[in-house]
Amino acid sequence: MPECLFCRIVSGGVPASRVLESPRTLSIRDINPEAPTHVLVLPKEHYPDLAALAAADHGSLLAELVSQVHGVAEAEGISGRGYRVVFNTGADAGQVVPHVHAHVLGGRGLGWPPG
Ligand code: 5GP
Ligand code: ZN
Repeated sequence: MPECLFCRIVSGGVPASRVLESPRTLSIRDINPEAPTHVLVLPKEHYPDLAALAAADHGSLLAELVSQVHGVAEAEGISGRGYRVVFNTGADAGQVVPHVHAHVLGGRGLGWPPG
């Protein structure tokens, strides 16, 4: 069994509320939502962070991931009013789960700049 929490969610070993799925990505509701819509879009393959994914993939998976981000926003009904996409990457950004994922946040006005 893989050690990585999100790999275990992908394989079904850990339950999650699934929002959308594509051949190489899975979108799940964040367990501790910071906004009315807070969904995580992750590749099914394990990459520790965006740097690792960008180094390994030069197109197709990155494109699928970003396309799914917008697909989540449409499915959640927030694409019209707007939404935010965040890849926390590394220690300064406060990344906690070392399996690359995009946060899709929306459903309320979001402050800027972030903390
Ligand atoms: P990071 O700080 O790594 O960008 O964000 C990790 C996110 O994963 C956090 O927003 C946290 O609430 C979420 N999270 C942590 N554990 C779980 C879990 O077991 N299930 C789900 N669905 N989300 C989780
Ligand atoms: Zn993983």
